Amino acid sequence: MTESALIKRWIHPHIRSLDAYAVHHRENMIKLDQMENPYEWGDDLKHAWLETLRGISLNRYPDGAASEVIAALRLVFQIPEALHVLLGNGSDELIQTVALAVGGSGRVMLAPEPSFSMYRVIASVTGSQYVSVPRRPDFSIDPETLLDAVKSHDPCCVFLASPNNPTGNPVKPELIEAVAKAVSGIVVVDEAYHAFSETSFLAHASAYPNVLVMRTLSKLGLAGLRLGLVMGTPELINELNKIRLPYNVNVLTQASARFALGHMEWFEAKASLIREARKTLFQSLRGLPGITVYPSAANFLLFRVPTGRADGVFSDLRARCVLIKNLNGVHPQLEDCLRVTVSTPIENEVFFEALKASL
Ligand SMILES: *Cc1c(COP(=O)(O)O)cnc(C)c1O
Repeated sequence: MTESALIKRWIHPHIRSLDAYAVHHRENMIKLDQMENPYEWGDDLKHAWLETLRGISLNRYPDGAASEVIAALRLVFQIPEALHVLLGNGSDELIQTVALAVGGSGRVMLAPEPSFSMYRVIASVTGSQYVSVPRRPDFSIDPETLLDAVKSHDPCCVFLASPNNPTGNPVKPELIEAVAKAVSGIVVVDEAYHAFSETSFLAHASAYPNVLVMRTLSKLGLAGLRLGLVMGTPELINELNKIRLPYNVNVLTQASARFALGHMEWFEAKASLIREARKTLFQSLRGLPGITVYPSAANFLLFRVPTGRADGVFSDLRARCVLIKNLNGVHPQLEDCLRVTVSTPIENEVFFEALKASL
């Protein structure tokens, strides 16, 4: 494509050099590429939910402070009273909010990599320099390497995804504490997969004024709703709130979230099924010759296929109507790696059989 004069003259070079977020064709596929929850509400819950939507006035602006949603989130997630909460249209939006607050030209945003791709994209969009710190071969973080990088780059923000996407491993609370103490900027602890993990930093967060804990309802089973939250000191949240566009969480999302948060037992039960299924699928993958599967505290598993085979296996699975994520070529440490969402026992089995056949 040739760039028009307008684009050449006015679109920032750092935007022109980016690629838009791509999502694969998904019709008639078993979708195991985006960590969606495979379970849908039954008719009883759906009916009750639609009843609550009946009373909504679409001609009115939503509650800009979304106070009732926040109250429900406080209860469900047991958010410490000392922390304030800001909501986003997904946690992606909140990553952007943080980047707009502290990032920009001449500033560094830093994360151990491989990690969630949006950190790099959003840092680039805001004109920040993005520094990635390599992980160990088992994808754990070497504290010394990370703290050295923090010391030499003085980042405005460090992203720590726990459990990490796409590797599945959590960050030890001691390491988060050490980073929080070492860095003068913000530490974002991204707990997008908290429902599937055994650890959280939320209970400790109020002791560290530069720590923000981020969560989302997406991986819990409400990816279509687009609701994320970030928690931090009242002072810090107050600053971020100035960047948030008014009414960024619409009335349908607010009402649906309030309904969903009143039925957390349904989500807990499904998360528990997925954690069980993760165990089973992990064991199955571990038994496959030539496959290395990495332990995961999230609702996905990262695995490595024999050298040079990832692209072939990915296409082969796609031809069998199973869509997973190909990470080969995304990062040097992810060579020959693929990622699969843990789904229902039946879908996991279909995936596993297709994988065996494609190897
Ligand atoms: C999926 C994901 C998000 C984004 O979640 P949304 O709330 O759907 O925007 C954020 N962080 C990590 C690590 C993720 O994997």
